[in-house]
Amino acid sequence: MVVRFRLPSGLEIFGLPTENFYSNDWDLGPTWNYAVMADTPFLVDTGRYGQGNQLLKIMDTAGIKSSDLEFVLITHGHEDHDGGLAELVDMTSLKVKAHGIYDLLIRQYPDMAPADYKRHFPAKCWHCFMPESFYTANCLGYHRMLQHLEVAAVGSGDRLCPDIVTRHLPGHSPDSLAVILGEEAVIVGDILLPQITPWPTCLEMYEKIAGVIGPMFPEPSEILGLHRYLNSLKYLRRLGTEHPDMQVFPAHRFYYGGCWNIIDLTQRIDELIEHHVQRCSDIVDIVSKGHGKALEIVQRHFDPSLLKGPGKHMAINEILSHCELLLKWGDLKETGSRHYETSGTRRFETLIPDLD
Ligand SMILES: [Zn+2]
Ligand SMILES: [Zn+2]
Repeated sequence: MVVRFRLPSGLEIFGLPTENFYSNDWDLGPTWNYAVMADTPFLVDTGRYGQGNQLLKIMDTAGIKSSDLEFVLITHGHEDHDGGLAELVDMTSLKVKAHGIYDLLIRQYPDMAPADYKRHFPAKCWHCFMPESFYTANCLGYHRMLQHLEVAAVGSGDRLCPDIVTRHLPGHSPDSLAVILGEEAVIVGDILLPQITPWPTCLEMYEKIAGVIGPMFPEPSEILGLHRYLNSLKYLRRLGTEHPDMQVFPAHRFYYGGCWNIIDLTQRIDELIEHHVQRCSDIVDIVSKGHGKALEIVQRHFDPSLLKGPGKHMAINEILSHCELLLKWGDLKETGSRHYETSGTRRFETLIPDLD
């Protein structure tokens, strides 16, 4: 399927969804890649590993050749977004743009790897919490292919075209970029999705990649963690307040189960903020009843159906990212490794909504 969108200015964006099915336990829906037909036309994202050629075929049905495009921009380094990249670059002359952290993390650094079996993995896999069965089946091959790629680094405020800029909005991943198209649209990658609450990273990931990104990005809380993620959402919320008609192009669930999910930026972000307040509230309640271990919180907070397969690892990550914030604000105290007790305060209730 290809969907052509025309913005009020006349700018055309093609939605190019590619297959993205991991298992029945985890279905994000297709990855929505986009071709932005601006003065400098470009592609955003490349689908999963193995989808590069397929994406070219889909583009072909829309009458778009890779030679019509100047470059491909990667919204962030998750495999469902850059998986098709190496294949696509191999088959075309497309140049690659991504955040500077992406450029650093796709390389191998055998001497700095955190464990022997990760010596030949790029740095972006060093903090991955997925089990071996998952990464050998899904991503190992493409990580090997990406390591020699040439990447032009872009960050906040970089102009892709006169009226199109990138914004570094990390938190879901350290290298997340949004593409802001004038006052009329924003391509958000996984920063913001309909139906799904994107997972936040944990600050504790930083120590694993500090050797690689530390010299350029010395402050963990600037690129990782729930706090940074919420700040990124708040940035987009301000954008939505300034430009209420802003159209949002998400990377998953744009069309799902026979329905379009049109996003109202401020409304969806308010829902996400409320979701994280509620999750903090549940965690504090569970810990206050004496279940202070991270795994106990996971088991009590999530429905068992969400803990199947990779879901369990995502659930642990989710709980840890919230506990990090609750510790920082003093609503939890750490009594051992990943073991908490409550302090009696619930500062998160006002601090999360008040973030700017
Ligand atoms: Zn992602
Ligand atoms: Zn994704």
